[in-house]
Amino acid sequence: MIELDGLTKRYGSTTAVDRLTCTVQPGVVTGFLGPNGAGKSTTMRMMLGLDRPTAGDVRIDGKHYEDLRSPLHHIGALLEAKSVHGGRTARNHLRVLAQSNGIPERRVPEVLDLVGLGSVANKRPKGFSLGMGQRLGIAAALLGDPKILMFDEPVNGLDPEGIRWIRDLMKHLATEGKTVFVSSHLMSEMALTADHLIVIGQGRLLADTSMAQFIRENSRSYVRVRTPEPERLRDALGEAGVTVAPGGDGTLEADDVDAARVGELAAAHGVVLHELSPQQASLEEAFMRLTAGAVQYQSHNAPTGAAGGPEPSRKEQ
Ligand code: ADP
Repeated sequence: MIELDGLTKRYGSTTAVDRLTCTVQPGVVTGFLGPNGAGKSTTMRMMLGLDRPTAGDVRIDGKHYEDLRSPLHHIGALLEAKSVHGGRTARNHLRVLAQSNGIPERRVPEVLDLVGLGSVANKRPKGFSLGMGQRLGIAAALLGDPKILMFDEPVNGLDPEGIRWIRDLMKHLATEGKTVFVSSHLMSEMALTADHLIVIGQGRLLADTSMAQFIRENSRSYVRVRTPEPERLRDALGEAGVTVAPGGDGTLEADDVDAARVGELAAAHGVVLHELSPQQASLEEAFMRLTAGAVQYQSHNAPTGAAGGPEPSRKEQ
């Protein structure tokens, strides 16, 4: 478990992390989201004792990082891809790490196999692809069999197979009862991986909730209807107090109503329907809606979503 209590970090006049209080629970994958500059990396660095809080506290299994006797037994982290000592083979790189952290050497072949690098254990990481480098970084994080694992943007630059592998690994670690904390700016990937979300903006906590609830609370849901008789359907729904707006492509969009009610009203008025489909916004749209006011750096061309938020996805669910 990771506990943040009023965690604050200031750099001069910039408040990077602002009184963050939350708990990252074991047994689930917790996604850590926030626009660029929101304070995610700073928070993760403080969790790992790499940066000192200006105020507040962060505890790993109830202790400060610097008080952990053998940190790799408690928390393993994959931070941004960094080069490994060029001269050593993958196996020797992990051996050195094991020795200096009091981890039995038999863990080295175990973790190499676990990440699928057993066959290249005697190769130097210099020649590794980005995906293989990530796997080696994950092997290092798993070496001490820690209860807490932290991944900062783990799928950046990976191919679909590598992305899927990391996703499955994180889910598997969570089912083993580990605490899995992962940051990513790839919303579609996060939607497939995380069970719970912690969202920050300008250093402050914006949401600490389940994935399903986050999407429900921060998105517009509506029913898309296609009919050869749009005017009649619009009147029928309007009479029943249902708000209808024209959608793209000749469809109508009915807000705050379930599909069954729309179908029943259409039937009662003898209106033929060609399509009746409930639409739910994606995680990305819910995230844009929530963080629209908390974006520090934004391209001038990017849609802000500030004017009522972006339109929900028009894709079939
Ligand atoms: P994120 O990881 O969410 O993109 P960061 O934690 O990197 O956000 O940054 C949060 C804020 O803190 C930004 O305004 C950034 O410029 C500032 N910041 C981060 N590290 C430093 C530093 N070492 N010195 C000064 N400002 C920093």
